[in-house]
Amino acid sequence: MAASAPVVGVAAALFRSVLQRAQQAAERSGRTAQQFRLVAVSKTKPVSVIREVYDAGHRCFGENYVRELVEKAPQLPDDIEWHFTGNLQSNKVKPLLTGVPNLAYVETVDDAKIANHLDGAVANIGRKPLKVFVQVNTSGETSKSGAEPAGCADLVKHVRSCPNLEFCGLMTIGMPDYTATPENFKTLSDCRSQVCKELGMSEEQCELSMGMSSDFELAIEMGSTNVRVGSTIFGAREYPKKEAQ
Ligand SMILES: *Cc1c(COP(=O)(O)O)cnc(C)c1O
Repeated sequence: MAASAPVVGVAAALFRSVLQRAQQAAERSGRTAQQFRLVAVSKTKPVSVIREVYDAGHRCFGENYVRELVEKAPQLPDDIEWHFTGNLQSNKVKPLLTGVPNLAYVETVDDAKIANHLDGAVANIGRKPLKVFVQVNTSGETSKSGAEPAGCADLVKHVRSCPNLEFCGLMTIGMPDYTATPENFKTLSDCRSQVCKELGMSEEQCELSMGMSSDFELAIEMGSTNVRVGSTIFGAREYPKKEAQ
């Protein structure tokens, strides 16, 4: 056995503590533990560590890179609910959907073109409808993907017209260091009000995916129903070189 075998159980313990903190935040804001979803974002982390969190009872994981997810998913149980949380290019839609039959959500639909590609690919494969979030650029940075807040109702309307997509809600990423500010969360929440008003939907029909390692409790208190937590569960990520998608 290798001299420096990984310490067993660390990720599972950190996962339990994040889940507990998230539940407490939900209770503080008058919700129950059932009213949010914790996505364990496992990008760059080995299958063995994901398995550890799976064995602790978790089923909901997120990945950012198509090639990485397509490689890892078949090595893990198929009752995992995978969330794709990365930038998605049209030419990666087919490999993503064929390679990951248990892909449950794409959280990063930011224009009509990618929605159409996903819709068509789901139809071709004949799998069940794919759940999607519309990504909104709430920080105003041009480097960030996401629909403009002013345009998000139109995009939601389009997604809801795609027969093979199931619209779930709005998603945002914060600033470049991945620290969303309360202003970003407020903007996403305002987008939801606008979308619901324009499209005659109730707020329950429009989830909010916001909050990461450094701010998931605040996000839940501000109405997030889907927090995406990576490094607080799995440890800091190492990026040896520029990542291939
Ligand atoms: C990497 C990533 C996360 C997790 O970030 P942490 O700060 O490590 O929790 C969440 N959401 C998206 C979209 C990401 O790319």
